[in-house]
Amino acid sequence: MLARPGLPDFEYLKAESPQEVFALLKERSPDIKLLMGGTDLFIQMRDQDSGPSTLMDIKGIPGMREIEFDKKKGLTLGAAVTLNQLSAEGDIQEHYPVLCQSADTVGNYQLRNRATLGGNICNASPSADMAPSLLIYEAVLILISPQGERTLPVGEFWVGPGKTALKGDEYLKAIHFPLLPRGAAGQYLKLGRTKKGDLAVVGVGLLGYPDQGAPAGIKFRIGINSTAPTPYRVPKVEVELAENPITEQSLQKAAEDAMEFSSPIEDVRATALYQKKMVRNLTLKGLKEIWASLQ
Ligand SMILES: Cc1cc2nc3c(=O)[nH]c(=O)nc-3n(C[C@H](O)[C@H](O)[C@H](O)COP(=O)(O)OP(=O)(O)OC[C@H]3O[C@@H](n4cnc5c(N)ncnc54)[C@H](O)[C@@H]3O)c2cc1C
Repeated sequence: MLARPGLPDFEYLKAESPQEVFALLKERSPDIKLLMGGTDLFIQMRDQDSGPSTLMDIKGIPGMREIEFDKKKGLTLGAAVTLNQLSAEGDIQEHYPVLCQSADTVGNYQLRNRATLGGNICNASPSADMAPSLLIYEAVLILISPQGERTLPVGEFWVGPGKTALKGDEYLKAIHFPLLPRGAAGQYLKLGRTKKGDLAVVGVGLLGYPDQGAPAGIKFRIGINSTAPTPYRVPKVEVELAENPITEQSLQKAAEDAMEFSSPIEDVRATALYQKKMVRNLTLKGLKEIWASLQ
C-alpha cells in the first residue's frame, strides 16, 4: 500500500438530522462513509487507492456533542464528544476518571481536539485506547436507524479488526455509562513504544470495588486492548478473583491467567511474546495498586 501525497476526491456533505443520514445511506451505500473527526478515516483514505465518493459529516446532528450526567442514571455522551471535551469535563473526571485517563493517552492534544469517542469506538481498532475503559465501565451503545433506537453492550459491538455489529442503515448516536458501584477505583495502564503519542502495544483498564457478597470482599473488572482481534474482558479471571481471598499469590495468578487469554499477533510494534508478558505485568501492577487503594 502506497502512501499518497493527498486524499482521493470525495463529496463532503453535512447532516443536520438523522433522517438525512438514513436517506443518504440508503441512496449511496456502500460508496459513502460517515465522518466525525476524520483522524482514522482520512488516514485510511490516504493509504488506499480508492475511497468512498461521499463523506457525510454527522457531528452537527443535534445531541451528538452533548454530555449529560445524572447522579441517579449515570453518564450519557453524544458520539461526537471529542476526547479533549470529555477529558475536561468535571463530572467525568470525578465519576468516570478512567475515561479521562484513557483519552489523555491518545495521540496528542491537537489530535484529541478532533478525535471523537464515537470514532474511536466505530473504527474498531483492536488497539483503541478508549476500549478498556468502555469495557470496565460496562458502557452501552445507543445505535439509531430508520427503525428507531437499539442498545448494545459495548463488548458485543466489536466483531473483528475494523468490524462492528452496526447494520448498514445504522449509526452510533450516543454512549451510556451506568453508575459505578460505590467505592470503585480504576485505572488505565498503557504501554506504547514511546512514552506518549504512540498506539498501545498493550493497554489494560482495571476497576475494583468493595462487594460484601463476594468471598474476596472485592470485585474486579479487567479490559484489555491490542492483544486479540477485538478488545476484551477476562470474565473467568474476574470470577476467580472474586471467589477467593485476595493475596499477593492470587493477584499474581490472575495476571498469569489474563496473559493466557491474550492472543496477540506479531507486528511492527512488538513481538507476540512481549505483548503477552506485558498483559501479565500491567494487569498485576493495576490489580496491586487498586487492591492497595481499596484497603
Ligand atoms: C497521529 C495519530 C495518532 C493516533 N493515536 C491514537 C492513539 O494513541 N490511540 C488511539 O486509540 N487512537 C489513535 N489514533 C486514531 C484516532 O485518532 C482515534 O481512533 C479517534 O478517536 C477516531 O475518532 P474520529 O472522530 O477521528 O473518527 P473518524 O476518523 O471520523 O471515524 C472513524 C471510523 O468510524 C466511523 N464512524 C465514526 N463515527 C461513527 C458513528 N457515529 N456511527 C457509525 N460509524 C462511525 C467512520 O465512518 C470511520 O470508519 C491516532 C490517529 C492519528 C492520526
